[in-house]
Amino acid sequence: MKRPVRISVTGAAGSISYSLLFRIASGDMLGKDQPVILQLIDLPNTMQALHGISMELEDCAFELLHSIQLFDNAKDGFQGAHYAILLGARPRGPGMERKDLLQVNAEIFTVVGRAINDYANRDVKVLVVGNPANTNCLIASRNAPDLSPTQFTALTRLDFNRLRGAVALQTGANSKDIKNAIIWGNHSTTQVPDLYHCKLHKQPALFQMDESWYKNECIQNVQKRGSQILNARGQSSAASAAKAIIDHMRDWALGTQNEDWVSMGIVSDGSYGIAKGIVYSFPVFCDYGRYEIVQGLNINEFIQEKMSLSEQELLDEKTEVERLLPKETELGHNNLSISLRSELIGEYSET
Ligand code: NAD
Repeated sequence: MKRPVRISVTGAAGSISYSLLFRIASGDMLGKDQPVILQLIDLPNTMQALHGISMELEDCAFELLHSIQLFDNAKDGFQGAHYAILLGARPRGPGMERKDLLQVNAEIFTVVGRAINDYANRDVKVLVVGNPANTNCLIASRNAPDLSPTQFTALTRLDFNRLRGAVALQTGANSKDIKNAIIWGNHSTTQVPDLYHCKLHKQPALFQMDESWYKNECIQNVQKRGSQILNARGQSSAASAAKAIIDHMRDWALGTQNEDWVSMGIVSDGSYGIAKGIVYSFPVFCDYGRYEIVQGLNINEFIQEKMSLSEQELLDEKTEVERLLPKETELGHNNLSISLRSELIGEYSET
């Protein structure tokens, strides 16, 4: 058995977490040979509920669950974390503008970024889920100057899974036969579901379906799927979001499978002409705990126009939270290779 790794989860008393924690503890995220220590973080007024979740986790007698710790503050909650999953965010309240939502969450992710910088393991892998996820991720990353921006990612895997699910439903194919779908951009209604490189049974997918379905229905449905679910259930997506988190972290940590790529929100390095420094969803391959943007794809005018709109939305969001962003530094790739080496030789520093 390997040494346990520490997984910090904020917003741990919330809905997504209630689906997520049990899957992490059962080994779905990091493998059936990887014991985990869960460090659950939420606001002080949720501690009783969090205690209840902790009791349920104990009652499952998971073989891989080494221990559970509960925290009402970020400083203690991120101590020694190898993985940080950030669900804790303020939802949009009545009368709240998108601008207000950006501001309150910007403040939360500033605090969280600093705590991760100061207390997490140097190899920590961070996934931001709380919305607006891309810009929250940017804020957390910029407030963690001692870590590489490549250690911070935002969740667009749910959108990626939704796109593959839509193609499966439309064509009758099994999702395992659908490869190379892409989500570009922001996790918002400007996201760009791209099927121009997608393969269905190893052949171009768009040759096997009605392209007007893709252009006139599929794109909008994927972009608006979150609100469709909210309207139908009266609550936002939780189990599918948890599944997407598991997929994102597993692929990042253990590698993408079956010669397929996945989509992740990552700090742009300027690939495909996207402004450097914003957190934008790209197609990536993952191996040895690293991701690499898939390069050299031809982007047609239809997709390019949508990619630019999503980029502009992220640039506007960045402008709105600018005052909370410490100065940009050229951080980087040296850090990443240290992180890769230490993972390969299993040097997790337990605290
Ligand atoms: P939820 O409201 O059920 O739970 C949120 C939890 O966060 C609550 O327990 C709350 O007490 C806690 N919280 C709030 N501020 C906190 C802070 N500063 N520190 C620690 N905890 C804090 O929400 P949910 O359904 O679990 O969703 C969580 C977030 O994920 C939301 O922002 C939601 O919009 C977002 N989301 C993103 C995606 C995506 O694909 N990126 C998908 C679904 C949901």
